[in-house]
Amino acid sequence: SIVVTGATGNLGRHVVEQLLEKVPAEQITAVVRSEAKGADLAARGVKLAVADYSAPESFDGLFAAGDKVLLISGSEIGNDRVGQHTAVIDAAKAAGVALLAYTSAPGSLSAALADDHRGTEAVLLESGLPYTLLRNGWYHENYTEQLAPVLEHGAVVAAAGEGRVSSASRADYAAAAVAVLTGEGHENKTYELGGDEAWSFAEYAAELSKQLGREIAYSPVSVEVFTGILTGAGLPEPLAATIAGVDASIEKGELVVSTGDLSRLAGRPTTPIAESIAVALKA
Ligand code: NDP
Repeated sequence: SIVVTGATGNLGRHVVEQLLEKVPAEQITAVVRSEAKGADLAARGVKLAVADYSAPESFDGLFAAGDKVLLISGSEIGNDRVGQHTAVIDAAKAAGVALLAYTSAPGSLSAALADDHRGTEAVLLESGLPYTLLRNGWYHENYTEQLAPVLEHGAVVAAAGEGRVSSASRADYAAAAVAVLTGEGHENKTYELGGDEAWSFAEYAAELSKQLGREIAYSPVSVEVFTGILTGAGLPEPLAATIAGVDASIEKGELVVSTGDLSRLAGRPTTPIAESIAVALKA
């Protein structure tokens, strides 16, 4: 089987959708926390397995020898994600899976947000399992799904200075994961994945202005000010600081990935940011 964890998340849904175009539904297992949330997948013939990264025993017997597994990194920042992911890796190892692919972060990213990914990579390499590191760069959707305050204030606010980011759509990263899960020769490979084009926040604001037909400015702020804006919007301080820390990394160029691995694996160019903006503005 091909087993996808985090299957009811945003990325996981794209992966399952694209897998369904390539393999019969009964060969796909979606690992979900909530059976109800996965009901639409089950209705299409995908097998469901209910498990939680925080409950290692819930993974007992879930994997079978020869499975190809996509471990989608968890979203509970600050809740021992390395420990959570280790539970999945241990179960995969016990079962003797053929491959475990993990959605990581770019090797160039030094921000604190990358720590859990580096920790998980170390556990995976130590396990001796055949692995693939899908070091995903940033999602377009991190920006295009957060447009309400931008439209309200007429400004893109970021702490990234003139830094650039080569983001891509979640569907693009899903295509790379599907290529690895359904293809051959990806054992023990590390892919640095990013969009074909890097953009700056000034360019992003200019593209929004063009599509909206009104002026959207770029308002660069310091990491401290940006952290304050995020806490003001209701984020807990540690999470706000972690997110603002990513902007500092962007300013240093750490989220520009220029390997071409993503379009090569996907077999097509990556989605331009302008296209994701257009989709978001229509929604
Ligand atoms: P989502 O938050 O939409 O999905 C996260 C998935 O992980 C969900 O399916 C969720 O389950 C599952 N999950 C979280 N905690 C657990 C747990 N304890 N046990 C089992 N499953 C769990 O994120 P995306 O799909 O958009 O992104 C996938 C991952 O990529 C994120 O979790 C995060 O690690 C990382 N990420 C990357 C970004 C980037 O720009 N590269 C941006 C944001 C996140 P459920 O459906 O039940 O909630």
